[in-house]
Order: sequence, then C-alpha cells, then structure tokens
Amino acid sequence: MPSKRIFDRIDSIEIRGVTKKYEGRFAINDLSLDIEGGEMLILIGPSGSGKTTTLRTINRLIEPDSGTIYINGQNIMELEQVALRRNIGYVIQNIGLFPHMTIGENIGLVAKLEGWDKAKINERVRYLLDFVSLPADMFMDRYPHQLSGGQQQRVGLARALVMDPPLLLMDEPFGALDPILRKQLQEEFCLIREKLGKTIIFVTHDIEEAFRLADRIGIMDDAKLVQIGTAEELIFHPVNDMVASIVDTGKKFKHLDTLRIKDLMSPLDNKYVHPASLSVSETIDSMLERDIELAVVVNGDEPMGVVRLNDLMRLGETNDIIGNHVVKVPSYEIGGFLENALRELHENDDSIAFVTDAGKVKGFLFPNDVFKQLV
Ligand code: ADP
Ligand code: MG
Repeated sequence: MPSKRIFDRIDSIEIRGVTKKYEGRFAINDLSLDIEGGEMLILIGPSGSGKTTTLRTINRLIEPDSGTIYINGQNIMELEQVALRRNIGYVIQNIGLFPHMTIGENIGLVAKLEGWDKAKINERVRYLLDFVSLPADMFMDRYPHQLSGGQQQRVGLARALVMDPPLLLMDEPFGALDPILRKQLQEEFCLIREKLGKTIIFVTHDIEEAFRLADRIGIMDDAKLVQIGTAEELIFHPVNDMVASIVDTGKKFKHLDTLRIKDLMSPLDNKYVHPASLSVSETIDSMLERDIELAVVVNGDEPMGVVRLNDLMRLGETNDIIGNHVVKVPSYEIGGFLENALRELHENDDSIAFVTDAGKVKGFLFPNDVFKQLV
C-alpha cells in the first residue's frame, strides 16, 4: 500500500518542550525550537549533547517522554508513522547500504515498497545518481563494496531523496570522510542545495562545516539548546564562553592581506600521490582502497596535475597510464601571499591548486572554500 503524501512542502517545524531521558539522565532537556520552511539549520555541540536524539524525535525513530513537535501545524504523533518517515529523508554517517543489493536497488528500495513500477523506479534512480555526480551507467549495477566511502555517502543522499521528501535530516553525513574529500562533498552539497529547495536539519561537530553550509546554527550542550542564530550572531554575541569557544576559529578576524598560503592550505597526505606510470585500472583500485576521489599525479618528484576518480571510472578498465589523463592545475609556493594566489585563481576560474615547497607538493588550495572561510 503506497503511503500518503503528508506534506508537499514544509512551512514550519515547531519543537515545543521536548524532553527525553535515558536511565534517569537527560538526552534532551526541554527543547524548544522553530525551523522555517526552506532553511538549513545546523546543530553542533560536543559528543553526547543530544544532537542525534533531537533529529530522531523529528522522524519518530525516538518518542519523547514529553513535549510536542508540529510540522506545518500538525502534531506528528497524530500522523501515521511509516508515512511520516517516507516524507522525511534521513542521511547518516555510516549509511548502511545493503551489501547484497546493487546501488540501483539500494536507491530504489523504498520506491519499490511504495509500489512504483520498474520503469519509473529506474528513471528516478538514474536521475538521482546523476544528481549526486555518479554517472548512472557506471554505478547502477555496482555493489556498495565497489564504491569509495565518498561515493557511498553520495548514494546515501540519493537514497534519502528517492521519494522527494520536503524535509531532510542529516546526521554527520560527511563525518567519516577525510578532510579533503569532506570539503569536496560540502562544496558539491552547497551547489545542489539550491536545486533541492528543501528544509534541512543537519548535525555536525565541525564548526567550519557549519559556517560553510548553514543558514542558522544551533549550539547544543548537555542536552540543551544553548543558543541559536546566524554565524554572525553567534560570533559577535555569544551567550557564554562555551559558545564563544566553539565559534572562534581564530581565522575569522585575520586580515586577508596578512595571510600566507600555508595558513589556509589543506595539507597533502601521501595517500594522494600516484606515479604517472600507473595504469588507469590500478589507480582506480588504489583510490577506492584509500577512499580518495582526487589523486595527485607525479613524474618522479615533479607534480603533473590531478586525476579524479569519476573521470577514471568513466574511462573504464584500461592499461593506459594515468599520465595520459592528467588535468593540469596551477601551483603556488607555500610562503607566498594568499591574496595574490586567490586573485589569480579567481581570474582563471581554477577550483584547485597545488601548494609546493621547493617544487614538492605539500598541499592543496581550494579557492572557493578559502573564500567561504574568510567571509
Ligand atoms: P550526540 O548526537 O549529540 O552525540 P546523542 O543524542 O546521541 O548525542 O545522545 C545524548 C545522550 O543520550 C548521551 O548521553 C547518550 O549516551 C544518551 N543516549 C542516547 N541514546 C541512548 C540509548 N538508546 N540508551 C541510553 N542512552 C542513550
Ligand atoms: Mg550523534
């Protein structure tokens, strides 16, 4: 039986006095919170502060001891539970794809349960794979273990979107990824978010991620919502020292013209480095194993450029060497001024650069990301 479409869009979510205790201790303590339709709210706070519990009361994976949650004015306890969940997308860190099902089957599962016919499911799955930058032809029939962690995380998002829910709950979706991959996915998420037009409640423990993505940020501590507001409000008017210490990244107030490239580079781990003589097939295997989507190609010690996992997979199994498929990127010396590099990168529309020290690659510069950290 298909479940009812409960709401086509979110106008408001009102959380009123919600409390949940485990073994006599508060997991959430008298939480009240208003979320506007279309907004992206990020909850941040120490481990155990009640973020996950808050999310899970909204899709009724957890029933509160007291308090009420209204979506578009309707008390969610009065809605049918399965229908409610199918109207809310839920993305978690270890996304729990079914290992014996293909990527296509994983994404289409709920649509199948809802009784959609094969052609319609197929069309939706293809659309969603492309939407999360995984070419459908290449990924539909693969199994989860054949994908990198970052690619699996994209599939998790695609799966959450299958019923086109107006509300998305995301619990540290990028938390398990290494910093460079995380930044790449954040950037892509920023881009697709506008197309999604959804209300999103997103949990993180990374304040930079919150600054990059949020409309408003809610700070949680010890089962309570301590403060909620825009990044500026939290930075300039923190209600206590705890909030002040969370939002003070130490970088925000430095003046751009004093910053060096090394201040904002993402350091390079050796796992990114691949020799130009490696074959495309070998490189794909290596990147999947190392869980990276971008590799630095070197000729001896000399950096040539980068290759991206999706591009290599598109080439398929071939013994052709990656040296023939390198995308050139500009490089900057580590001690140089950031301002000059950013201006040049911006003029040339480059989204990535190497940071080098005496000709050796030491890290990456992602100009778009740097801009966001500076504003
Ligand atoms: P966060 O997501 O902010 O790290 P959680 O919401 O997961 O925090 O947990 C809040 C508190 O509730 C923690 O002290 C945690 O140990 C406790 N808690 C959460 N779920 C359970 C559970 N099923 N049983 C017992 N205690 C729990
Ligand atoms: Mg949690």
